[in-house]
Amino acid sequence: MYKAPVEEIAFTLKHVAGMAEAIDDGLLGDLGEDLVDAILAEAGRFATEEIAPLADIGDRQGTRLADGEVKTPDGWRDLYRNWAAGGWNGLTAPEDFGGQALPHMLNVAALEMWNSGSMAFALCPTLTMGAAEALNVHGSAALKEKYLARMVSGEWTGTMNLTEPHAGSDLGVLKARAERREDGSYRIFGQKIFITWGEHDAADNIIHLVLARLPDAPAGTRGISLFLVPKFLVNDDGSLGARNDLHCHSLEHKLGIHGSPTCTMIYGDGRFGEEKGAIGWLIGEENKGLACMFTMMNNARLAVGMQGVAICEAATQKAIAYAKERTQGRAPGWSGSGMSPIIDHPDVARMLLTMKALTQGSRAIAYACAHAIDMAHRANERRQHWQERAALLTPIAKSFATDAGVDVASLGIQVHGGMGFIEETGAARYLRDARIAPIYEGTNGIQAIDLVTRKLPLSDGRQVRGFIAELKAIAEAVRSSNLDDFGATADRVDSALADLEEATSWFLSRLAEGKSAEALSGATPYQRLFGLALTGCYLAKGGLARTSDGAGEGRIALCRFAAENLLSETAALKDRVVNGADSLAAARTILA
Ligand SMILES: Cc1cc2nc3c(=O)[nH]c(=O)nc-3n(C[C@H](O)[C@H](O)[C@H](O)COP(=O)(O)OP(=O)(O)OC[C@H]3O[C@@H](n4cnc5c(N)ncnc54)[C@H](O)[C@@H]3O)c2cc1C
Repeated sequence: MYKAPVEEIAFTLKHVAGMAEAIDDGLLGDLGEDLVDAILAEAGRFATEEIAPLADIGDRQGTRLADGEVKTPDGWRDLYRNWAAGGWNGLTAPEDFGGQALPHMLNVAALEMWNSGSMAFALCPTLTMGAAEALNVHGSAALKEKYLARMVSGEWTGTMNLTEPHAGSDLGVLKARAERREDGSYRIFGQKIFITWGEHDAADNIIHLVLARLPDAPAGTRGISLFLVPKFLVNDDGSLGARNDLHCHSLEHKLGIHGSPTCTMIYGDGRFGEEKGAIGWLIGEENKGLACMFTMMNNARLAVGMQGVAICEAATQKAIAYAKERTQGRAPGWSGSGMSPIIDHPDVARMLLTMKALTQGSRAIAYACAHAIDMAHRANERRQHWQERAALLTPIAKSFATDAGVDVASLGIQVHGGMGFIEETGAARYLRDARIAPIYEGTNGIQAIDLVTRKLPLSDGRQVRGFIAELKAIAEAVRSSNLDDFGATADRVDSALADLEEATSWFLSRLAEGKSAEALSGATPYQRLFGLALTGCYLAKGGLARTSDGAGEGRIALCRFAAENLLSETAALKDRVVNGADSLAAARTILA
């Protein structure tokens, strides 16, 4: 059973991602390290003792649709209400609306733990937090007054309605319609698919954020508006009124996250109300909806990255526990009687250490991204720099961590042998759940395009070059530490960074020359190269930040393992980036 790694999380936040420095610099308000530890401990307890025990039943039962109502798995309604009563939904939300205005770093750490407990469960608050943030940033005072506090408290949940059958990655072609009404409201019509937690029985109201197009809107992404469309209309005194004209038509049957209802939503077919059309209110300006939604999506992209980290952690814990108990064969050097535990076989240890390194690497990248977001809001200077750093790190945090989630969960099954393929052990659920994360919130392929075409050119390439220079200083610090335990870490990290630098220059020059097809061929390998190089650097940073309790020793050993076993992949990735485009273009004809 999953146990939240509270100390490891606290260490990574403070000593790798930059939280301790931010506290020392007075940038996190009253927050001190003791309070951080206390919040993490309580979140860890809730994830371990309350969420994780209900994950399996959620997976087996799934959700059920009857008479338009979706029933969540046994125990989940109370679980959600207890979770919300703990105030967890409002950690980063504004104090004016009942939130605690704490740093994003704390929230992503908590999100990691909720998701390790159950990714299907944690999706509900993830969407609510994103919807509340979009409403807070772009909504009118009146809309915020009516809805925000109850979304911040978690009393009402939120959703994000973008996708339609023909409009997935390309939202410019979406067809949902909005019509103006004289009282300033709008009527919404259309179908949305794959809407996470679009209908359920855990909360009293569901606040849908829906992208739709006005009759006179320009074509494409410039003609999309964002609307707040509640399941139940809300009276002026805050009480719930009539049912709005929207409903869940069907639930998807899917590979994983069975406890999370994935809904087809119908807006405005006349099922409820006297006049056809779901009543909605504009968020932000007409035709600027996609920009508003991006507030939510950036938040959600990092949150999906946390799902990857969370699966890595939970799958690794399970695999290590199994490998200590399962005995098979006699490992080299085994002197005990009978068979040795499989953890003593070098190949099994290799798998487990790979899992641990990818877990800690993706955790550090995601927390560093959250740190950059916090600094962009709170730093006394260089806010644009931090905004750019957050923008650069977001696609890497999303994609590297979610790919790692799939790889680590798959390795977890391998460690379990045949028992991993059998549902009983729970190792398979991690892989089934993990598989969606590289797909939604912008596929990892779309993240790679974003990284290469929009993020590398930030400040004419100075942001990414400055970042690489900072990372080189970590390798240098390892070298000058003269610690033998680091082995070849400094050299391997240097090489990885040289690969990253060469690939980055290649992209910047191709983009400057307008050779986008060439550049896009190598975007995904580049994204992984960046993530691996960061993994090496952040593991080294953790190793350098030796703690007084000796926990640094294990970190250095893991860092050396990663440097000498995983980082060699960066050379191959760089080669794919700079030399792969021609053959890819030539071979495409065979797909015709
Ligand atoms: C379980 C689940 C939950 C979801 N929850 C929500 C939700 O709550 N709200 C919501 O609105 N949506 C949700 N989605 C939808 C999800 O965000 C989309 O599935 C995702 O954005 C991909 O869109 P698509 O499925 O249409 O794939 P497509 O866009 O058809 O993509 C298919 C493939 O083509 C690639 N591709 C597409 N366009 C390009 C391009 N321009 N360049 C390069 N490659 C490209 C993609 O990377 C991918 O590999 C959910 C989906 C699932 C399965």
